[in-house]
Amino acid sequence: SMSPKKLHAAILCSPGVGHLVPVLLLGRRLINHHNLHVTVLAVTTTTSTAESQLLNSLTADIHLPVIQIPAADISSIVSPDAKVVTKICAMMRETIPTIRTTISSMDPLPDILIGDIFSTESWTIAEEIGMAKYVFITSNAWFTGLVTYSPVLDKEVVGQYVDQTEPFKIPDCKPVRPEDVVDPMLDRDDEDYRVYLNLAVGVTLADGILINTWENLEPQSLHALRNNEILRSIVKNKPVYTVGPITKNYEPVGVKSEVIEWLDKQPERSVIYVSFGSGGTLSAEQITELAWGLELSQQRFVWVVRPPAGHIKDGSFFESGHSGELNGQADYLPEGFLNRTKKKGFVVHSWAPQVEILNHVSVLGFMTHCGWNSTLESISSGVAMIAWALYAEQRMNATMLTEELKVAVRPEVLPTKKVVGREEVEKMVRCLIDGEEGKAMTEKVKRLKESAEEALSGTICFQYESFMKNLILNTICKSKT
Ligand code: UDP
Repeated sequence: SMSPKKLHAAILCSPGVGHLVPVLLLGRRLINHHNLHVTVLAVTTTTSTAESQLLNSLTADIHLPVIQIPAADISSIVSPDAKVVTKICAMMRETIPTIRTTISSMDPLPDILIGDIFSTESWTIAEEIGMAKYVFITSNAWFTGLVTYSPVLDKEVVGQYVDQTEPFKIPDCKPVRPEDVVDPMLDRDDEDYRVYLNLAVGVTLADGILINTWENLEPQSLHALRNNEILRSIVKNKPVYTVGPITKNYEPVGVKSEVIEWLDKQPERSVIYVSFGSGGTLSAEQITELAWGLELSQQRFVWVVRPPAGHIKDGSFFESGHSGELNGQADYLPEGFLNRTKKKGFVVHSWAPQVEILNHVSVLGFMTHCGWNSTLESISSGVAMIAWALYAEQRMNATMLTEELKVAVRPEVLPTKKVVGREEVEKMVRCLIDGEEGKAMTEKVKRLKESAEEALSGTICFQYESFMKNLILNTICKSKT
């Protein structure tokens, strides 16, 4: 008998490593376990050497073509002061003609378009060509609940969200505290908020929703998205699939980096890894306090340091050269810091092999900005966290990690509002390293690691199987119309 032709999925991705990494990993999975033909369309701005290496390593051993599409110039449309969601969405919209040309010239034409949350305006292309369309949320189900419910909150809540005294009730989900709302909700009068509300529309127009989470991590939010009548009607009864946790695996390649060689010489479970993601930058004052805190704790650390920002810049990750190499001395660190901590600490300038570090036996804790990829990588390595949320949906992630999952400690002040003092840094590091609380968190995160492994074990996992069935059905429908 003739074997059916392979389905071809195009996965469209907005700028930023935080989206491209999970997109490539999803692509790999669909090829390796589900016999799809996959092409990744990555809309890009600037990419550093370290980032390109990371991307190469995710495509080296597999036939996964990545077509880089330069992001359209938006400087004449969007003010340079516009916030990150506004900028990304404008870029994605202005790039649609190039995306269309790229897709139409593909042979075979894709049957399916998968897009990240900022890609949904390209659904028009899917409709023109007759492709099934799925949105891939590179964050969690609780966040998905908030995004989809935001248009309702917009009608119900009077005044700024951050000025409310009661948490926002998302039907059947955990409520979201006013101070934890996603960045674009911080100021309702900003254009960014309108653009953000529009994301919900894009999500509801998809044929299905894929989320980088797993059933046992977020049973409540997933149940709500699938069964709550209000949420069901908002997402127009679209199926919700958990495709996670998809994270990079620990795959040492080639020569050991210096930081790994340093970790090799440290005692087991003694090091705190400090990193704020691909875009996180701290103020000069905060860097000083963090440095003093690490020094005062007298514990071992690996710190990925970036030059300070005047303020926390959410959008720095797609602007120029944030992860470029640092020239000369790190003069923003306290005087003598590098010298005094030479034996206890290792400072990495700008980019580190994060998954390899998290999986190293010497590493005990992760001070993280709670980006969802970093969070999943930490859980998948069984490493407890210090939840230092900075931008996007990270305050929600931090709340989930500390209050619900109990695998992280969190500063008493919000790092986005106030400087976290050195004593508090010291306290949190000690709590992870030698406190009872730290031990309990490590126990918990080890159990989560097991549950994460179970979620994707076996070549065919149930969620993907349902997704594939839905995909085939939708593809047949589209090709008939
Ligand atoms: N990353 C890395 N080395 C670094 C900084 C980041 O490998 O020095 C990787 C990290 O492992 C993760 C991604 O970049 O896979 C960052 O994604 P995340 O969602 O945590 O945060 P974002 O950078 O999008 O805020």
